[in-house]
Amino acid sequence: MLYESYQSPWLDDELRILQDAARKFFETEFKPLNEKWISQGKVDREAWLKAGEAGLLCAEMPTEYGGAGGDYRHETVIMEEMHRAGVGGFGNQVHSAIVAPYFLHYGTEEQKQRWLPKMASGEMVGAIAMTEPNTGSDLQAVRTTAVRDGDDYVINGSKTYITNGQHADLVIVVAKTDPSKGSKGISLIAVETAKNPGFQRGRNLKKMGQKSADTSELFFEDCRVPVSNRIGEEGHGFIQLMQQLPQERLNIAQAAVVAMERAIEITLDYVKERKAFGQRVLDFQNTKFKLAECKTEALIARTFVDQCLLKLMDGTLDAATASMAKYWCTQKQCEIIDECLQLHGGAGYMDEYEISRMYADARVQKIYGGTNEIMKELIGRTL
Ligand SMILES: Cc1cc2nc3c(=O)[nH]c(=O)nc-3n(C[C@H](O)[C@H](O)[C@H](O)COP(=O)(O)OP(=O)(O)OC[C@H]3O[C@@H](n4cnc5c(N)ncnc54)[C@H](O)[C@@H]3O)c2cc1C
Repeated sequence: MLYESYQSPWLDDELRILQDAARKFFETEFKPLNEKWISQGKVDREAWLKAGEAGLLCAEMPTEYGGAGGDYRHETVIMEEMHRAGVGGFGNQVHSAIVAPYFLHYGTEEQKQRWLPKMASGEMVGAIAMTEPNTGSDLQAVRTTAVRDGDDYVINGSKTYITNGQHADLVIVVAKTDPSKGSKGISLIAVETAKNPGFQRGRNLKKMGQKSADTSELFFEDCRVPVSNRIGEEGHGFIQLMQQLPQERLNIAQAAVVAMERAIEITLDYVKERKAFGQRVLDFQNTKFKLAECKTEALIARTFVDQCLLKLMDGTLDAATASMAKYWCTQKQCEIIDECLQLHGGAGYMDEYEISRMYADARVQKIYGGTNEIMKELIGRTL
């Protein structure tokens, strides 16, 4: 245990049982496959079914839609254990904590019945496609269009950097249903990818880190989907995205905190073993000071995200506070992992040491989910 006297205030006995079960599952079922997944650039498809069977998908979805009937704390516990086991390439954060809530909050009863049980079992993998080759931060500038034709929308455009893109069966596409209306012309449309001739997956993109996570280009060419696949009202897509982004950003911040804690723990193990100049590396004052700083900052981050979680639970987590958590925690994640890598010496640069992989995996945390510059923009608006 990294902190001697701090416990997340939201963690209760029921969640501790889930925590134990999730830890065992990720350690025994996923960890042994991780090297294979890294080399193939994606997890095996069966991983989704296995996680579904173990009840680890869609934990916050109600039981009537196949979910576990929990809340965001349950998603958090599962996500944390996944990262502690070092198998963060499994795209459940996007699937369960980002995509499924759109259906729950804005979907029709028919949509919920049709998609959520299959997402909870792992039969369907979810993705969300906002980013395009020409626009990421400036979401209002998306060029993908969805034009009404009878009872269908015809979608044209391309998306990139889409998490779960290779496995996705159900993609929430951010598209302009009325390009003349700017952000008010954006709608969210669910595309079922199977047997849809207008949908094509592009390359599984090669990345600096997070190598077992599939990240893809997606193409839509006269891709027809029924109007009944629209999520919520036409033109409400941008507002829906803005409402859901705080949860997505908190989720990224929480993953950053787990990574900081894990980095400190493995570094402590290393510097207690490693010797230089006749003493343990831990015994140098510099090592103790560096790790003291890291541990202090990790605990500050932990208490902050815990407070944000409590706010999210009572519906008061605002966009600026979620942005603070996302920006600060991911910045600290990168700084702390860098310090921890330094304390490993040359070993820290070797793939076989976990810290090396964590360093590469961390970098994107400052970029996706809204870049940290955009987070500061959002915080700046409250000044
Ligand atoms: C591994 C990975 C997974 C991803 N998964 C998904 C996914 O599942 N779905 C999805 O839709 N997207 C996904 N993304 C995309 C990601 O969200 C975008 O890359 C991100 O939002 C930034 O957009 P961009 O790449 O177009 O950068 P740009 O918007 O082109 O930004 C370039 C630089 O300009 C800065 N900048 C832009 N605007 C401003 C401003 N107003 N003020 C100051 N600086 C600014 C940015 O901060 C950045 O430093 C993923 C990306 C990666 C790398």
